[in-house]
Amino acid sequence: MSTLNKILIVDDSHLIHQMYRLILTRYKNCAILDAMNGLEALDILSREGGIELILLDINMPIMNGVQFMEKIKADRLYKGIPIIVISTEGKEDDTMRALKLGAWGYVVKPFKPDVLHDLIEKVLAKKPSPLMAAGIKHLQAK
Ligand SMILES: [Mg+2]
Repeated sequence: MSTLNKILIVDDSHLIHQMYRLILTRYKNCAILDAMNGLEALDILSREGGIELILLDINMPIMNGVQFMEKIKADRLYKGIPIIVISTEGKEDDTMRALKLGAWGYVVKPFKPDVLHDLIEKVLAKKPSPLMAAGIKHLQAK
């Protein structure tokens, strides 16, 4: 079993990267990789093995989160990597597309760190997606 959890942060805001790094400090055996858009993230994935979790923004230049997920889910090497979509309020359409593409979970900004902690713990413990349990149809109705 690997002792190092590799987490890839994909967001076009440097401030958000800093915030996630702060939230992730509790995971001592955690290597954090940073990408500013989907294209950078694909490049990192092609070079780095063993990424266990992707924290994904939706609204980004060059390649957005939905376009990134379309690529990832079509690639047998990467499609199994859990993705937590972290989107902004008012972008429900994009979030829903990402969920339909198979996001493991999602969080809406602004959020409390504990909300993200809970999801990360579940991903690293290889627990099933709460979205699968709730059913995306149920989420659509909200
Ligand atoms: Mg953004």
